[in-house]
Amino acid sequence: MDYQSLWLQTKEEISHSLDPAAFDATFSKVNTVVKTINGSVYVLCPNILIKTKMNKIYINHLNEILQTLTNERLKFKFVTSDEVTTKETPEEIKPIYFQSNLRPEYTFESFVAGDSNKLAYRNAMQCATQGSFFANPLYIFGGVGLGKTHLMQAIGNAMLDNDINKKVLYVETQDFIDDYSKAAKSGQFSQFEEKYSALDAILVDDIQMLSNAPKCQEQFFKLFNDMYNNQKLIVITSDRPANKLSNIMDRLTSRFAWGMPVDIEKPDQELRFQILKRKLIESTDQVVPDNVLEYIAKNFTDNIRELEGALRRVLGYAVTFDTDVTLDLAHEALQTLLKNKANDGEDSDYEKLMSIVADFYQIEVANLLGSKRSAKFTTPRHIVMYILKTKYNLPYKKIGFLMGGRDHTTVISAVEKISLQMKQDMEIKIAIDTILKKIN
Ligand code: ADP
Ligand code: MG
Repeated sequence: MDYQSLWLQTKEEISHSLDPAAFDATFSKVNTVVKTINGSVYVLCPNILIKTKMNKIYINHLNEILQTLTNERLKFKFVTSDEVTTKETPEEIKPIYFQSNLRPEYTFESFVAGDSNKLAYRNAMQCATQGSFFANPLYIFGGVGLGKTHLMQAIGNAMLDNDINKKVLYVETQDFIDDYSKAAKSGQFSQFEEKYSALDAILVDDIQMLSNAPKCQEQFFKLFNDMYNNQKLIVITSDRPANKLSNIMDRLTSRFAWGMPVDIEKPDQELRFQILKRKLIESTDQVVPDNVLEYIAKNFTDNIRELEGALRRVLGYAVTFDTDVTLDLAHEALQTLLKNKANDGEDSDYEKLMSIVADFYQIEVANLLGSKRSAKFTTPRHIVMYILKTKYNLPYKKIGFLMGGRDHTTVISAVEKISLQMKQDMEIKIAIDTILKKIN
């Protein structure tokens, strides 16, 4: 996109609605786009007076015009030459277009802190203000949809808010891998180097994706060291602690432990409720009673993305049927979602159990469900039934059904048999302990 001509077009447009003398007095020396970062287009003002005028009088109008000129979410910001790091005079400032990949809505302000994420939140704020001097790297880990990406990007957004000259890059690990592979394949590293060098901060999302990509690990190792040695901030997210990363070289994972690890846990009901409240205010002026938010908060426990999705669904439902949002309506809107979720969760737990047991005994899952009677198959089969009973407390009938349609009396005797063996047979006990550990 040609930001420079976008500004000139905007300027031209606004001139039609202003007195020519007034227009000239303010706009004649405001001509240069010096930088675009993160959806902000920075325009250079000759002095602080003009900058203030822009911000006080014209900014909304200008941004409205900008909206009509492009489909992208862009906004103008005004700066004076003091704010732009350079030794050159304003006329000579060269435009810098740098793509930070940050989403402007992922800020600290829009992040709701609670018990499960408070520590991560505080540390992230410290990193945003103190950079690598606070911690390097900051290593944020936790389950899916708990706010890792949001928090990490908030650091980048805050850094840029403080200083537009910072070069901050957010990158998903997979994109890093793709960028590197592309460069390696073509032998053309200039684009790669341009993107990944001279950064003030790098935010690398979902580092676990780096497993099984040894060449990329080597490249990332170089980048990491380079940034670390220059005291530039590195922020990493992962779905697990650094020492649990598999198939990533130790040199790298041990460096992740140099800085500060913080985890984000699942939100409690109170936090889920507060997040829903916040999302509501941010996204709509529809009225939603607290008991509806409580209902959603109670039923969507594991993942904030799903929590938000449930709220959106209720809101959409009310719009479609043109009614108020009530508890009854929420029940109706979320019925199928909750049903699927319940089944999904359980079924995948059982499937996981079966594949773990099958793996452990080096047989196929089909053998667990089948009817071949050799001990090679019957012992693991009985163990699955035993765990379904003792860990998941399922009714015998349901276990029979899950095990390929066996009679519930078969299940009872299998469970009893294994219970007894647990006390007498070391091998069985070790097997079951190992399997249970793998499940958790
Ligand atoms: P992760 O990267 O851990 O999978 P994300 O950062 O993508 O999770 O978060 C998923 C969604 O939940 C995003 O829309 C994010 O804005 C929202 N979210 C997560 N935690 C919070 C929070 N504490 N406050 C507000 N929104 C949150
Ligand atoms: Mg994420």
